[in-house]
Amino acid sequence: MSAADGREDGRVEVAGVAASLGIALGPVHVVPRGDRARRRRVRDRAAEVRRLREAIEASRAEIEAARDTLDEETALVLDAQLLMHRDELLVDAAVKAIEELGLDAEWAVERTVDELRQPLLRSDSFYFRERAEDVAHVGQHILRHLRGDLLRLPERPLVLVAADLSPAEAVRLLGDERVLGLVTESGSATSHTALLARALEVPAVIGVAGLLERIEGSPEAVVDGLAGKVVLTPSAEEAAAAAQRSERYRRFANQLRARAGDAVVSRDGEEVALAANIELPREAGAACAHGAAGIGLYRTEFLYLDRDAPPSEEEQRRVYQEVLDACPGRGVTIRTFDLGGDKLPRTARFDAGPNPALGLRALRLGLRRREVLRTQLRAVLRAAADREAALMFPMVSDVGELRRARALVREVEEALDREGLPRGSVRVGAMIEVPSAALLAGQLLAQADFLSVGTNDLVQYTLAVDRSNPDVAPLGDPAHPAVLQLLARVVEAGRVHGKPVAMCGDMAADPIALPVVLGLGFRRLSMPLGSLPFAQETVRRVAMSELAPLAEEALAMESGAEVRDRVREQLRDALGELWVEQGL
Ligand code: PEP
Ligand code: MG
Repeated sequence: MSAADGREDGRVEVAGVAASLGIALGPVHVVPRGDRARRRRVRDRAAEVRRLREAIEASRAEIEAARDTLDEETALVLDAQLLMHRDELLVDAAVKAIEELGLDAEWAVERTVDELRQPLLRSDSFYFRERAEDVAHVGQHILRHLRGDLLRLPERPLVLVAADLSPAEAVRLLGDERVLGLVTESGSATSHTALLARALEVPAVIGVAGLLERIEGSPEAVVDGLAGKVVLTPSAEEAAAAAQRSERYRRFANQLRARAGDAVVSRDGEEVALAANIELPREAGAACAHGAAGIGLYRTEFLYLDRDAPPSEEEQRRVYQEVLDACPGRGVTIRTFDLGGDKLPRTARFDAGPNPALGLRALRLGLRRREVLRTQLRAVLRAAADREAALMFPMVSDVGELRRARALVREVEEALDREGLPRGSVRVGAMIEVPSAALLAGQLLAQADFLSVGTNDLVQYTLAVDRSNPDVAPLGDPAHPAVLQLLARVVEAGRVHGKPVAMCGDMAADPIALPVVLGLGFRRLSMPLGSLPFAQETVRRVAMSELAPLAEEALAMESGAEVRDRVREQLRDALGELWVEQGL
């Protein structure tokens, strides 16, 4: 996937996945790999022990501060971790490894943690296996403090280059205004780090194989998030051209944004509701100010990621109210946490299993960890007192799961009523992200008030393409006829039941796939804010009466590539300009 053309002057061009629109130019800042420590000899053993003790102390202080903000039950979890900071087995063994072997503190912590975990992991008792996870978390926490500089940014604008960022790290780093652009070695266009980059409008190219080997010594980079290209050590002319191109993109997008308030109606008079996806509460205001028809997907799991314990009911209630208040009268769909898969809280206390995407994730996890889901539902229902909100469950795979989720909503409503706490009533929807749910969309609609298709996962599960693996990313084409047939089924179920069916996966923002989505009959779409002006303009330039036969034809094709060629051929005149500006 990565073409390189090395030159004398150090210029290197590499290719990856265009993950977030826009072009950035700036000095490179490399986040070193956070993987296992390499054994390193240290000269001053006493100083290394001091460094370890300071990291342990900083880690302890951070956990203690977090503990004070928690309810009793969660605080107990942290108490167990705090005990370990004083535990002789852990601390003394690590100190001894440094003193006796003269090796570095990171390695000493990793070795000690491994030694403590192995017997616990082999135990038949669930209790001891859970303790193994506690040991690992404490170790990770201390390591983070030892490597504290990894995620600390210098005081200047920069292009961030990393092997990978976890969604938790991405929340922290991409929200920082110093970060002009992002390049990573792993990930694909729909991996959660890419979604965050789009949400925060940071131009990004991801899935660049072998990036870190090539980056060494490159002072500057151009990140072309339109073409999926990165130029390391660009020439002066190239840097100037990139700055110009970046400006042109911004101007074009701004021109479209200026029309954000205009009706989003096709040439033949059909209206389409285009809403925004948000990951962070602060995006809601900008989305609705820029003409979004509400928030079609609020990915609440990002509230849970970069912290040691789940957010409290009160904190969540305040956040949800803030989001609802940012878009009054436009409709906000709050999705319950989709944790698991590639989105794990920093101190995840559950085993994601050997194949996390097929394991305890999203609603499955919520129904297993009912207390955590119950707290979230209480917060949503309380935030919805005097405000309109919709609630949506992720990764529903059959009707029984949805029934259990709805029963939990009822239980929470009754509890709030008993406690005399004001609450609202919310419309309850299911996401269609699993082929089984698409096939049984009619059954789900008998139980749900609405459906919303998450194509990022639907593609992953239908085509067996790991959404975070760049090696197979090109196979995960949402325009694939197998995916289109499932989509057609969902639209049909909506028609039969007379209930709304939306799409909030990234397919809605795919410039070539979008006309097919419209042709299939979707009239409510939700997407990253940066794509919204392009999608609005697309709707205004097409006639649905032309798109319906196009979609019909696509359903019978053999591949996504064939579908895309057909769309390009038929709509070049109407949409070609928009495609070019989006880097196609
Ligand atoms: C999807 O799967 O398309 C979706 C919208 O959910 P997420 O991307 O958060 O998994
Ligand atoms: Mg999903």
